[in-house]
Amino acid sequence: MISIAMPLDDYRAKRDFTRSPEPKGKDRRPAPRGQPRFFCVQKHLATQLHYDLRLEHDGVLLSWAVPKGPSIDPRDKRFAVHVEDHPLEYGEFEGVIPEGYGAGVVLLWDRGTWEPLDDDVGGGLERGDLKFRLDGYKLKGSWALVRTRGMSGGARGAPPGRSWLLLKHRDEWAGPVDIAAFAPLSVKSGGDFDDVLAGNAPEVWFSGKSPGRRVPPPDALSKILAKVERYKEARDQAKAADPSPQPARPRASSAKDDRPRTGRATRAPTGGNRRTTVARTKTAAGRQTTRATSKATGTKAEAKRARPKTGRATASRGGRTRRSKGSS
Ligand code: MN
Repeated sequence: MISIAMPLDDYRAKRDFTRSPEPKGKDRRPAPRGQPRFFCVQKHLATQLHYDLRLEHDGVLLSWAVPKGPSIDPRDKRFAVHVEDHPLEYGEFEGVIPEGYGAGVVLLWDRGTWEPLDDDVGGGLERGDLKFRLDGYKLKGSWALVRTRGMSGGARGAPPGRSWLLLKHRDEWAGPVDIAAFAPLSVKSGGDFDDVLAGNAPEVWFSGKSPGRRVPPPDALSKILAKVERYKEARDQAKAADPSPQPARPRASSAKDDRPRTGRATRAPTGGNRRTTVARTKTAAGRQTTRATSKATGTKAEAKRARPKTGRATASRGGRTRRSKGSS
């Protein structure tokens, strides 16, 4: 059985904070009821690339590791391992974990607020059925986490009771888009793993004032660099194989307010022949976020559902369309 709120002891036990730049975490402080709750997805290049979905609850971040990342396509059921709670402060972390548990690079892939569709989050965790809404830069709308009946030992090596599936419900924020591939960059820095690595290198590797404590051994450093190189190769190969448009790199801006301007969603290009269209939204900080929306291609009902409403990304209305390559 999953405990309702796992203490941070598990988290702390796995990490040596004299050597890791990760936030240590204060003791839990319950989030006020009715207040927006923080959520994030951290893209984590560790032993394996995965995405960590974290939902604030009772002063900690409930956490699931999702190997393939979230999908906004309701047909996808993404395997998710329920992992130990993380401290709230960890939710904004982006940087390098030099060595030890999770060694690699963390990129803040999405963040925003979430709300449970049923107030009894603890009960949902126990039942293994959590329905919620996300309001992030990339992920929005209605989602579910459902625990699976794993075989002994759990599915795919996950501990018993820790195997879940992450599902997107059908709504206006769903679509046949590989959102992880389409919007791969950080919502915090706008960069990719190599940018995070470059940007944080001095801070992480050389800022420690205790001599010898913060500087990872050369082999740890070279392992992380090798991981990022492998990631870049795979990314570039995927780009070369898929001619669909890539989101442009965001530009830095001095604006302070970094909330997305949800009212500024732009109309997707009309007259195009892509089923998948993307509206790009500039945040006040000048960071570009992307929204992918599905375009109705079939029934009138679909077309009706896809009709743009104020304040959200719109689907273009272009009649017959083709499926963009590689968007399943
Ligand atoms: Mn992780």
